[in-house]
Amino acid sequence: MPELPEVETTCRGIAPHLEGKKVKSLTIRQYNLRWPIPSNMEELMKSHTLLKVYRRGKYILLAFNHGTAMIHLGMSGSMRVLDANVDVAKHDHFDIKFSNGKTLRYNDPRRFGSFLWAGENPLQHKLLASLGVEPLESDFHADYIYKASRNRKIAIKQFIMDSHLVVGVGNIYANEALFQAGIRPSRAANQVSLKRYQRLVDIIKVVLDKAIKQGGTTLKDFSQIDGKPGYFAQELQVYGRAGEQCLQCDEVLIEIRQSGRSSVFCKKCQH
Ligand SMILES: [Zn+2]
Repeated sequence: MPELPEVETTCRGIAPHLEGKKVKSLTIRQYNLRWPIPSNMEELMKSHTLLKVYRRGKYILLAFNHGTAMIHLGMSGSMRVLDANVDVAKHDHFDIKFSNGKTLRYNDPRRFGSFLWAGENPLQHKLLASLGVEPLESDFHADYIYKASRNRKIAIKQFIMDSHLVVGVGNIYANEALFQAGIRPSRAANQVSLKRYQRLVDIIKVVLDKAIKQGGTTLKDFSQIDGKPGYFAQELQVYGRAGEQCLQCDEVLIEIRQSGRSSVFCKKCQH
């Protein structure tokens, strides 16, 4: 599943090819994504210049002077910038064609993604308005998360994955950050000290930043026919390693389920 670093990498991969270019036409082959693509999407975008590609949470925003289109990659979505004559493949659900001959092509086998129009104030759109702070911005800090945790008895892992608090801490990153911070994923959020939150916040920033930097090495894939953009290999210390030995001690890593998601931890290193 595309996580925040992959979405950020996608924005950086497509932006240089498309910013400042005018939309020539849209081809929509499949309207039924997670929500239906609005039938007037081409009318809204055609002949307008794409000013900026940016991200809020896991939404990719295409800003025009009269409004903003909003794309989510869902569970399995990806985008590439191609020459207009590249053959359409299975699950290529829509193309945005630009005046420079480039096409932004969206592929999504599972169709949990979305392509919507967010109007002139995209950050006020109902899908974005309630999002928490960005993890790599300065308003994600220990005091903020510590204060928010004081009357929360939910597990720390669910707490930091709550997108109303902070966006983009997906399951894999939550597992890895909690391991590196030495915090057991099942610990109640209000039972974690400010000092430990400080460490956790610092680690979350480092883990996400590192993933974005790794993704940077795949940027050229966003404009290659055979390049499969995106989900670069992570060096994972706990996620997917249940039953194997901890890399810090020799304890066997344990797996539990939390809200249906896999949590892997070391009972010696994480408290
Ligand atoms: Zn250990």
